[in-house]
Amino acid sequence: MSLTGKTRVAGVMGWPVGHSKSPLLHGIWLERYRLDGVYVPLPVRPNDLPLAMSTLPALGIAGVNLTVPHKEAAFPLMAELDEAATAIGAVNTVVVDEKRRLIGRNTDAYGVAAHLRASAPDWRPDAGPAVVVGAGGAARAVVHALRGLGAARLRLVNRTPAKAEKLARDLKLETAEIVPLDRPGPALGDAALLVNATPLGMTGMPPLHLDLTGLPRSCIVYDVIYAPLETELLKAARARGNPCLDGIGMLIHQAVPAFEAFFGLRPEVTDDLRARLLQPSGGGPC
Ligand code: NAP
Repeated sequence: MSLTGKTRVAGVMGWPVGHSKSPLLHGIWLERYRLDGVYVPLPVRPNDLPLAMSTLPALGIAGVNLTVPHKEAAFPLMAELDEAATAIGAVNTVVVDEKRRLIGRNTDAYGVAAHLRASAPDWRPDAGPAVVVGAGGAARAVVHALRGLGAARLRLVNRTPAKAEKLARDLKLETAEIVPLDRPGPALGDAALLVNATPLGMTGMPPLHLDLTGLPRSCIVYDVIYAPLETELLKAARARGNPCLDGIGMLIHQAVPAFEAFFGLRPEVTDDLRARLLQPSGGGPC
C-alpha cells in the first residue's frame, strides 16, 4: 500500500474495535482493486462519539462504519438518514457528502437480503413463515430485509415479548405473530426460514436453546453470529439435515455498499473472501 496526498480515508468506529473484521475485509478489496485508500480501526469511547462524528468532515474522511456500541447513539447525530436506517433505528454506515454533511445509512438489511439471494437462491418469501429470534438492532435489520424481499408471514420470537411487539409496531408489521422465547409452541412447525438475531451462541454467551424437533428439514436456519462460525444452533440444525447459513455472509454483503460509498467502486463478493476472513489472524466479531 502506498499513500498519496489524495488517499481516501475510511474506517470503523467502535469501543472496543480491535476485534473488528472490517479493516481486513475493506483492506482486501482496496488491495484487489489497487485503490488509493485506507480503512482503519478507530477506537472511539461512547462519550466521544459526538466529537468524533463532528470531526469527520474537517479531517476529510470519506466515511465510517459503526459497530457496538455506536449504532443507535449515532442516529441523532446525522444530518440525513436513509430509509433503512430510519426504519431500523440504527446507523451502521456514515458517509460524508459533498456538502460535508453526515448521511446515516444502514446496510445490515441489505447484507441479509443479498446473502440470502446469493446463498439460498431457492428460498421463496411465500414458502412459509419466517421466524426471527430477537428484537434488537440485528433483528430489526433482518425483519426489514425479509419484508423487503416480500416475506408476508413473520413470527417474532423474543425473551421479552413486549420488545418484539414494539419492533412490530415500529416496523409497521401488522400481521406479525409474537411468540415468547420460553414457550415457542408450534411456532417452528411450518417455518421456511429460522433466523437467530440475538447474541445467544456467540463466544462468551450461552447458546440459543430451541427445540428443533418439529422444524421442517427444508427450513433454512440462519445465524447472524459468526464467532464462532458454527453456533450450537447451526450444529444442531446441520446434524438433522437443515440447510444452514452463518453470519459471515451478512458481514461481507453489508460491507459492499459501504465500500462503494467510501471508495467509489462496487466490490465483488468472491469465494476467497470468506476463507481470508476466517484465517486465525482474521479478527473477531464485526
Ligand atoms: P442486541 O440489541 O443486544 O440484541 C438483543 C436481543 O437479544 C434482544 O432480543 C434480547 O432479548 C436478546 N437477548 C440477549 N441476551 C439474551 C439472553 N441471555 N436470553 C434471551 N435473549 C437474549 O444485539 P444486536 O445488536 O441486535 O446484535 C445481535 C447479534 O447480531 C450480535 O451477536 C451481533 O454480533 C450480531 N450481528 C451480526 C452482524 C453480521 O454482519 N453478521 C451484524 C449485526 C449484528 P430481550 O429483548 O428480552 O432483551
